[in-house]
Amino acid sequence: MPARIVILGGGFAGLATARELERLLRPSEAELTLVSRENFSVFTPMLPEVSSGNLESRHIVTPVRAQLRRTQFVLGEVDAIDLEQKRVAVRHVILGTRRTYEYDQLVLALGAVTSTFDLPGVAEHALPLKTLDDADRLRNHVIAMLELADVTADPAQRQRLLRFVFVGGGFTGVEAAGEMVDLFRSTLRFYRSIAPHEVEIYLVEGGKKLLPELQAGMGEYSARALGRRGVRVLLESMVAEADHDGLTLKGGRHLSTATLVWSAGVRPSPSIAALSIASGRGRSIPTSADMSVPGYPGLWALGDCASIPAPAGGTYPPTAQHALREGPWLAHNIAATLRGSATKTFRYDALGMMASLGGRRGVAGLRGRFLLTGFLAWMLWRTYYLLRLPGLDRRVRVALDWTLGLLFPRDISELRVYTESARLHSLLEAGLKPVRAAPEEEA
Ligand SMILES: Cc1cc2nc3c(=O)[nH]c(=O)nc-3n(C[C@H](O)[C@H](O)[C@H](O)COP(=O)(O)OP(=O)(O)OC[C@H]3O[C@@H](n4cnc5c(N)ncnc54)[C@H](O)[C@@H]3O)c2cc1C
Repeated sequence: MPARIVILGGGFAGLATARELERLLRPSEAELTLVSRENFSVFTPMLPEVSSGNLESRHIVTPVRAQLRRTQFVLGEVDAIDLEQKRVAVRHVILGTRRTYEYDQLVLALGAVTSTFDLPGVAEHALPLKTLDDADRLRNHVIAMLELADVTADPAQRQRLLRFVFVGGGFTGVEAAGEMVDLFRSTLRFYRSIAPHEVEIYLVEGGKKLLPELQAGMGEYSARALGRRGVRVLLESMVAEADHDGLTLKGGRHLSTATLVWSAGVRPSPSIAALSIASGRGRSIPTSADMSVPGYPGLWALGDCASIPAPAGGTYPPTAQHALREGPWLAHNIAATLRGSATKTFRYDALGMMASLGGRRGVAGLRGRFLLTGFLAWMLWRTYYLLRLPGLDRRVRVALDWTLGLLFPRDISELRVYTESARLHSLLEAGLKPVRAAPEEEA
């Protein structure tokens, strides 16, 4: 009988694992199943450019089925994982029908969701930037604020509408704030009643510097570059709470704003945090060095939902760069286990980290030693990520978007993409189950 290998999650980590397993194992050795709630994967490093209208949202996603050859794909929401009985309950995303999948090997690659650290009012009033829907919604929201400001005479109201606050000085906050400057520079000409100096962009970070997890110098350069472009960077500023008017920092400073973008943290997917073994970073799954989960033979975890020990101490960071390396390594370890050989400790020395700052500027730390800044770093960012984007057709589309972006202003059509899938997402993230009248079906 072929081993039943079930992979949960169709992001960077899950897909990289499935593709390598397809290559390593013969159909007679393993039956592969991948479960994910969307039938596409999102290339997250390009999400900030979707939120600023520089890239079309469909161009940065790739269908899961197009990335797999013989793995069975299930469009489903993982409802429950029974580690003792070795089975997973999955609800079909469209039909709502329930099915149970039994496994011999289970790969947990469910990623992470936005965390607001239970700060009062933040979940209700902030816009996250984690999914494709979030990016589309943010773009439409920003354009809607410009439309409202255009017809608002009251100075206090105009200031609230034209103040955009990004919280979190990591990749997402830094890149999104830089992109917003580009969006306004390109589109304000269409709003004749709004003077450029009326638009305020804030970037709020609790730590002493931006990009705190990256090599020395990158955060300082980013703060200077963004500052030169008009972004007000507030360091060592912790958020206390948010309400309908804006946000309040610890210490009492209040920023009245109609746009609060939250990218200050992530926590593992709720299906992972619900497991009794979730005791790692932010309730992620602590693994052994080969990505197996101690005490549960046949159970593996990787990507943002796992805490994988790094040889130098601590755990590997939750980035796409690491997830893409962990996947194939884990596949080799599963193949070794099935064939009765020894597994190997995961080792990866990151090549470097890059961030795009908008305005054709970037910053790149290479091998933890060299710092590249400005136009060259931005070109490196674009070239590297374009080549990593799955699918030749997607690469061509993104390259065309970028070329058109150099020639034409950004699109200010406000499309109101408050779609069914966006509603579904927010319900799921809030831990609520969308109500569907659907028959129960057990396999
Ligand atoms: C805006 C942004 C920019 C980023 N930029 C960079 C960057 O420049 N460089 C970099 O290295 N990293 C970057 N990252 C981080 C990177 O995206 C993550 O580290 C990476 O996505 C982790 O991969 P993963 O496979 O573990 O999780 P994910 O890619 O999140 O995949 C998890 C998958 O599981 C699915 N899923 C979750 N729960 C369920 C469930 N209950 N049922 C069914 N399916 C489920 C999800 O829908 C998703 O498809 C960025 C992240 C964001 C949000």
